[in-house]
Amino acid sequence: MPARLIDGLALAQSIRAEVKNEVAQKAPAVGRAPGLAVILVGENPASQVYVRNKVKACQEAGLHSQLIELPLTTSQSALVAEIDRLNHDRTIDGILVQLPLPDHIDDHVIIHAISPEKDVDGFHPANAGALLIGRPRFRPCTPYAVMRMLASVQAPLRGAEAVVVGASNIVGKPLALMLLQAGSTITLCNSKTQNLAEKTRRADILVSAVGRPKLITADMVKPGAVVIDVGINRLANGALAGDVDFDAVRPVAGAISPVPGGVGPMTIAMLLVNTLESFHEHTR
Ligand code: NAD
Repeated sequence: MPARLIDGLALAQSIRAEVKNEVAQKAPAVGRAPGLAVILVGENPASQVYVRNKVKACQEAGLHSQLIELPLTTSQSALVAEIDRLNHDRTIDGILVQLPLPDHIDDHVIIHAISPEKDVDGFHPANAGALLIGRPRFRPCTPYAVMRMLASVQAPLRGAEAVVVGASNIVGKPLALMLLQAGSTITLCNSKTQNLAEKTRRADILVSAVGRPKLITADMVKPGAVVIDVGINRLANGALAGDVDFDAVRPVAGAISPVPGGVGPMTIAMLLVNTLESFHEHTR
């Protein structure tokens, strides 16, 4: 039997509808809607698509969104000053700076400049640390999305073998911590990992977040495993693909998420969830 499909698009739509409902209920009483500011520096076409999708999702859910597009030549200090203005803006609950930034700007300085109370991406060291010690405030949106997708198929996490391929600060590492907190035994793989297939074949839960098409082949997957594909790769023919060889793996896995229509739309839904949570905190 082919694996159950984890439909990120449908799940994201239902989460966005829930957020919209909550906003409609609370905003009139508070006198304002939750606010998200999205900053884009430069004109990277992929980033432009991402930020516009985020802003559109906000508008559809009744959030107030502010898209701040700055020229490529913006200095680091000017960007910090803009963030500082938003840190003090009472109509803004979440601040997101779209990565990657131009080379002359240090990501770490910028992430550090965002108030941890408005860091809805969950990248600030204070929020990363809070997740590390098991007291998360804002969970980074992509791994948070993966956790919701696992919950949607009631994947048992406690005592499960979870293998995460890819160990970035924004996906792999925080996801490993979330799975650990849920009681899974974690294997976190990176580009130096020896004999990757031996590790992935142990996985009850297998997540790939690398950015390499067909990295995960059918022989690397334990029968019945839940497979979540975070990768986004643009193929030579222009199509989008994940890291998992979907057609070959689907007959082996128990449940699997597609690309597109998997983690991507769910990441945006979880950004709205984080912004709504921040709004609740700021309007208590
Ligand atoms: P990154 O480049 O920062 O990190 C990649 C990680 O993969 C590193 O830890 C690296 O060591 C590891 N890696 C590289 N080659 C490997 C190999 N052969 N075997 C095992 N590990 C290997 O990337 P990132 O920002 O974490 O993104 C990863 C992928 O996820 C990309 O395709 C990106 O586009 C995608 N992504 C998707 C979303 C979404 O919303 N769906 C969000 C973020 C990232």
